[in-house]
Amino acid sequence: VLYNQVQDLKGSIRVYCRIRPFLPGQLNGQSTVDYIGENGTIMIVNPLKQGKDARRVFTFNKVFRTNVTQEQIYGDTQPLIRSVLDGYNACIFAYGQTGSGKTYTMSGPDLTTEETWGVNYRALHIRNKSQLNGLNVPDASLVPVTCTQDVLELMKIGQKNRAVGATALNERSSRSHSVLTIHVLGKELATGSILRGCLHLVDLAGSERVDKSEAVGERLKEAQHINRSLSALGDVISALAQKSTHVPYRNSKLTQVLQDSLGGHAKTMMFVHINPELNALGETISTLKFAERVA
Ligand code: ADP
Ligand code: MG
Repeated sequence: VLYNQVQDLKGSIRVYCRIRPFLPGQLNGQSTVDYIGENGTIMIVNPLKQGKDARRVFTFNKVFRTNVTQEQIYGDTQPLIRSVLDGYNACIFAYGQTGSGKTYTMSGPDLTTEETWGVNYRALHIRNKSQLNGLNVPDASLVPVTCTQDVLELMKIGQKNRAVGATALNERSSRSHSVLTIHVLGKELATGSILRGCLHLVDLAGSERVDKSEAVGERLKEAQHINRSLSALGDVISALAQKSTHVPYRNSKLTQVLQDSLGGHAKTMMFVHINPELNALGETISTLKFAERVA
């Protein structure tokens, strides 16, 4: 299916929901996912409630069951990634609470096994030379690459840097957004004209609400900042989805950085991740509500 055709029908924002499987040791856990329909519906159940309040249905472009492979996930991103080679800008986001599988989708559990590589690594296997463009984020670096291996090395450095701000209590990467931007310069074979495309691969900070009684000082500030930037992102995508005339890009650094790749002719795909465990139910519902707002 050509992405452009899909886009004509559905708008340029696609929202997919991925359910993380129970992890080893939790195999007998009770799942909050009651039902997954073929047409992108998912039903969440609260086993502690009775009657119609116990169930809630959400609808997305697609819902991936827990047994979906990394290759299948990548398959769904490919038309969008290809469009970058045709000179479009695009963003792929991973959203969800800490532990729901964002990094698994974007990077994969480990780099040594190609089978479990995430979207980032698979996308970079398109062979090309990258061109440097301007980027106005302090501490961001722009490095020329010529092959996939160069990028893999860079990403390892990025992962390390991401851990720098970690405190003992915090899960390493949950307090920051990770943005990998790939600039692509191509030449249209028929006409010889130069095409520039840009792909942002974004592993967002954990979306969980902070418990104000636990978080204090710097940590509380940081958490509130993250929540603000995620809701600013939600506001932008939902304004775009509703074809609103005002899109509030300027409310966060994240949306400013991505502005050229959100809206206009750009394409956006968001994977929202949920953890099926019962103790994650509250966050699962708020994740799905967020996602439904931007879908
Ligand atoms: P997040 O980045 O949202 O905090 P992770 O991607 O680190 O979450 O996932 C949390 C844990 O669950 C990791 O141990 C990861 O390997 C595992 N996991 C996540 N998604 C899957 C999946 N689809 N299949 C198998 N294990 C997964
Ligand atoms: Mg992560």
